[in-house]
Amino acid sequence: MLEQIPCPYCDSSHTSYHFKRHLNTQHAAEFVGGVVPDHFLDAYLKRGLYSDALQRGVDFVECGDCGFRAKRMLDHLKKVHRYTAETYLAKYPGSCFTIPGVLEKRVATVQAHSAVYCVLDVPEMKQKITQFL
Ligand SMILES: [Zn+2]
Ligand SMILES: [Zn+2]
Repeated sequence: MLEQIPCPYCDSSHTSYHFKRHLNTQHAAEFVGGVVPDHFLDAYLKRGLYSDALQRGVDFVECGDCGFRAKRMLDHLKKVHRYTAETYLAKYPGSCFTIPGVLEKRVATVQAHSAVYCVLDVPEMKQKITQFL
């Protein structure tokens, strides 16, 4: 039997498949702009990046406007809220856009795909590496 999720807005419960549709048809008015965000279910069920075990700024960065969590935030800010890095920072000073370690992981991924890739081609890595040379 599929798990039933209790609706936070009314006295009913639904499978995760139907829950999103229920929110969209019955409770869209509860959400900013009348749109149920894609991440609502994950946040409500505290799963994935919304797990309580994770730490902000270490495992994820969080959107100040809607609470969306991701490992890299800039795409979300641009697409959903039309922020630039500058306008977002003006509103939320000191925010991070990327968790530490994402850059290194991306470099590792690129390296895995290209044997001739040189890590010194990435300016940020060059800076970090030359500190140790
Ligand atoms: Zn409901
Ligand atoms: Zn957002």
